[in-house]
Amino acid sequence: MRPFTYARPTEASEAVATLAADPDARFLAGGTNLLDHLKLGVVEPSQLVDVSRVTSTTIEDLPDGGLRIGAGVPNSDLAADPRVRERYPAVAAAILAGASGQLRNMASTGGNLLQRTRCAYFADRTTPCTKRDLSQGCSAREGWARYHAILGTAGDGCIATHPSDLAVALVALDAQVQVLGPDGARTVPAVAFHRLPGDDPTRDTVLAHGDLVTAVDLPATTPAVVNSTYRKVRDRASYAFALVSAAIALEVRDGTVVDVRIALGSVAHKPWRASTAEAALRGRPATDEEFRAAIAAELEAAVPVDSPLGGNAYKIPLVTGTVVSTLRALAGGTA
Ligand SMILES: Cc1cc2nc3c(=O)[nH]c(=O)nc-3n(C[C@H](O)[C@H](O)[C@H](O)COP(=O)(O)OP(=O)(O)OC[C@H]3O[C@@H](n4cnc5c(N)ncnc54)[C@H](O)[C@@H]3O)c2cc1C
Repeated sequence: MRPFTYARPTEASEAVATLAADPDARFLAGGTNLLDHLKLGVVEPSQLVDVSRVTSTTIEDLPDGGLRIGAGVPNSDLAADPRVRERYPAVAAAILAGASGQLRNMASTGGNLLQRTRCAYFADRTTPCTKRDLSQGCSAREGWARYHAILGTAGDGCIATHPSDLAVALVALDAQVQVLGPDGARTVPAVAFHRLPGDDPTRDTVLAHGDLVTAVDLPATTPAVVNSTYRKVRDRASYAFALVSAAIALEVRDGTVVDVRIALGSVAHKPWRASTAEAALRGRPATDEEFRAAIAAELEAAVPVDSPLGGNAYKIPLVTGTVVSTLRALAGGTA
């Protein structure tokens, strides 16, 4: 392991300046993702800048009726907060579907959004990976692609998926990410926070080096948001990353869909807002037939990987079933 130094600033601006001045420095929050990557040699930082003293660990009410979640709020505290459980059930459900109790106690809100992909080739320095090194190819396309992307995969580059469950719920609920960078503070909509790989899969988000996530804002609730949930399908009942997942908010009045938000997890390099399906459903009857047609329209763009070691075409029927059954449960008030 490459030797590194450790800094623990007490001001957010100091943390940002320290990182911005050193291209090889990394922020450290709970360490549940970063320390694994250090041990595997996937990242070799020159210094770790501990952000535990500069990110808030509180959840505050916002004047517009929303909530501000400090970037340092542990995942366990976020899932347990009564305001989150009652007003944003998809957020609490998404967190509780992830990791383990011990990990959720350490994992922070900011670190959860910034965690790296679980692609096995990314974590294995002995195999080519274009996310680790732009000059290398993608091993997953010809290899074990069972967990990989079916949407937003144009070209022959990276097909890794983003692993955060929380991020999928935040995208569905139109959350806003608060960022402090070397040039000051700014707000990034959760839907635009993570990115498709394009010609630089080494970048998971729109953040620049030195940008610190300081908080996540949940907007004021609506009937759909209160009637929201998160469904995660995985190989084991617990302690496993998603094969596919869906965060869905739904309001039905007199049998008609008035408002619907759908985000899909583990189908793309970023949490995938299913805007085509949402548009197809608004104003339509809340029936299985309509639900199925809407998600089929969204998945028309899907390009599964046909790999000899394990492809991912199974994700198309799995997403369809997950979304249809979740919409049905939300429409019937049984989610
Ligand atoms: C065995 C295991 C199972 C897991 N299962 C799941 C699961 O099912 N679902 C799921 O969603 N997650 C799962 N996780 C991942 C876990 O949720 C993440 O490791 C955790 O959320 C990361 O938070 P952290 O505070 O520990 O971040 P760290 O590991 O400290 O940091 C992660 C990354 O974020 C950056 N970072 C941290 N804070 C900030 C900030 N404020 N601003 C900018 N950058 C920052 C760091 O530089 C680093 O690159 C699992 C992890 C393990 C080890």
